[in-house]
Amino acid sequence: MAGPDDPVRLSAGTPGERLQTGRVVLVVAGERVPLELTVPSAPTSVEALLPILRGLSSLFAERATGQRETEGRAISCRAGCGACCRQLVPLAPSEARALARLVDALPEPRRSVIRGRFDDGLARLEAAGLLGRMGTRTAEERAALGIAYFQQAIACPFLEDESCSIHPDRPMACREYLVTSPAENCRTPSADTIEKVTLEADPLPALVQVEGGGWVALILALRYRDDNPDPGPLRPAPTVLREVIGRLVKET
Ligand code: SF4
Repeated sequence: MAGPDDPVRLSAGTPGERLQTGRVVLVVAGERVPLELTVPSAPTSVEALLPILRGLSSLFAERATGQRETEGRAISCRAGCGACCRQLVPLAPSEARALARLVDALPEPRRSVIRGRFDDGLARLEAAGLLGRMGTRTAEERAALGIAYFQQAIACPFLEDESCSIHPDRPMACREYLVTSPAENCRTPSADTIEKVTLEADPLPALVQVEGGGWVALILALRYRDDNPDPGPLRPAPTVLREVIGRLVKET
């Protein structure tokens, strides 16, 4: 059985690549969270480190789930409930690239089906006059856009039978979104009816800051990658991870 000092192991890298492993201890809400991170030795892209960053999102979501259950408040989110998959899902730029790459790698005819859903979603946003507002940055603008987007009821292109068809590769926002309010409330969400779980640390905004501060709506992921083909310079993995983790919590 894992002890409190056993690290959570997260890794990134491709088979055959030279890797290095390091340890870091996060201090989260006064509690030590040891991590063992294995990353490529050579300079790398942020996208290549997403398995670790997504793992951090899942880790903090799991910790929040455990804490709420200890308090007797169950998480309502279940496989087969895709109500939140019609919301505006924010991505870090590296996540948009990764999703576009994932779609590129799908076999036909699946790839065309998914691409068609992205195109349909964009057409509906354009018809609703929302496409030009997708780059809004302030919290107020984003909240208003989120309501208008949800009213369009555009299902995520990856939603199948109300379940996520890319569950292992789902974005950080999807991992970090948990509610304790009744699942049916998510069909007509409002500030009064949704009890969203606050995580002790939130890796997605930290990553968005590290990548320059701009987020990408999931429905725009393919267009974003096509418009921004250059992923930027490769950098040492420990440097990138320190920048993200440094925005999360105190580390020792
Ligand atoms: S990626 Fe998956 S979990 Fe996230 S919104 Fe789409 S279907 Fe839902």
